[in-house]
Amino acid sequence: MKIKRFSGGLHPPEHKSTAARAIEQCSLPDELVIPLAQHIGAPAEPCVVIGDTVAKGQLIAQPRGFVSVPIHASSSGVVTAVEPRLHPMGRPLLAIVIKPDGRDAWPDGLEGGMNPLLVNPLTLPPSRLRDMVCNAGVVGLGGATFPTHVKLSPPGGKKIDTLILNGVECEPYLTADHRLMLEETGRVLAGIDILRRILGVERVCIGIEENKPDAIAVMRDACVRRDIEVIALKVMYPQGAEKQLILAVTGRQTPSGGLPMDVGVVVQNVGTAAAVADAIIHGRPLVERIATITGPALVEPKNLRIRIGTSLRHLVAECGGLREEVVKVIMGGPMMGQTQLSLDVPAIRGTSGLLLLGKNAVATRSEGPCIRCARCVSVCPARLLPTTISAYARRDMIAEAERFNALDCIECGCCAYSCPARIPLVQSIRQVKGAILAKRRLS
Ligand code: SF4
Ligand code: SF4
Repeated sequence: MKIKRFSGGLHPPEHKSTAARAIEQCSLPDELVIPLAQHIGAPAEPCVVIGDTVAKGQLIAQPRGFVSVPIHASSSGVVTAVEPRLHPMGRPLLAIVIKPDGRDAWPDGLEGGMNPLLVNPLTLPPSRLRDMVCNAGVVGLGGATFPTHVKLSPPGGKKIDTLILNGVECEPYLTADHRLMLEETGRVLAGIDILRRILGVERVCIGIEENKPDAIAVMRDACVRRDIEVIALKVMYPQGAEKQLILAVTGRQTPSGGLPMDVGVVVQNVGTAAAVADAIIHGRPLVERIATITGPALVEPKNLRIRIGTSLRHLVAECGGLREEVVKVIMGGPMMGQTQLSLDVPAIRGTSGLLLLGKNAVATRSEGPCIRCARCVSVCPARLLPTTISAYARRDMIAEAERFNALDCIECGCCAYSCPARIPLVQSIRQVKGAILAKRRLS
């Protein structure tokens, strides 16, 4: 099959120095701060109080509504606070604080799982499997944190025929998905089998960028008898964005304002597939994830398996500490990640990585006037006019920005990265998107 190429995009330096670093287990911190807002949708509602003793994997917050997920304790210990704590979003939000007891114990002494399934999961009805995914609090681990059970519940009338597993990991520096595919192939494949059963799709593909030949070879080898295509994709950022991935793998163009399910596709990250396998086969909720802790300011970058709620400061210490003063901390990758104001915030379900940059790695040139070079336009994978939308956004001309399809912006950062005038295009477009959505909610 001919691989389609999306328009725009770019190839920033990869900096994937941790690609050969095997996944290590991060040590247990002194405190776990577990926010109730860790997913797209309504924050969860606490169901524990100060002084409660909790086991690892125990439910500590209930979902509120369909687009919400439960939250579980990521280690055993005592609840010491239910209060607002600084969140990676940059403001204090309600969190459950646990002082670990050091035993890291699952309920009833079960090792590594809560309620192992005693039957073949592929014999269970899809609705039961979907409920189990929901009860385990599984969300998209590529960074989007959309509740997985919602993505697996297409509305009537939407026929899904293709499941795409996203193993692209096109963000510079990040290598957690790469290591997962190499080291925990069986978990990923078990999850894919379950996702296929839930969706009832014929076609299943795994998209991986060509810069991970070892992962492509391992996955191809493992998929030989499974009727799963492993597709090697051109190295081009943002190849891992949903619409761009769908175009490359199926040739289908997701319409403006549309969703993958509008073109018969569901996309799931490979880490999400592994979390689905844990949820169904071992009854293990989403209490930890793999993340790349990296950057030139760090002594020893690593891929770590981290408990949700571990502070960024603990992760830095786990990697040998800092070799120079940090001037920028980013949760996620450098293109789409979120700048952090402090290391005293917790890693959450969407924390695919942590990037620590010293002054030599951060451009300090200040913003200049737009020189109408159109570089931002040529790299935009959503075929937008970033300079025009940004100019409207900065003048609060919301309707005009909407008319230029601001909501189609996937916030990939390509425009700002290529802008010679260093105009913070994404920042203003993100703000105007928020204003457009707020206006729609009111009308
Ligand atoms: S951030 Fe938005 S406007 Fe800028 S290149 Fe990406 S999709 Fe286009
Ligand atoms: S890349 Fe920057 S300078 Fe060039 S047109 Fe876009 S906003 Fe203007």
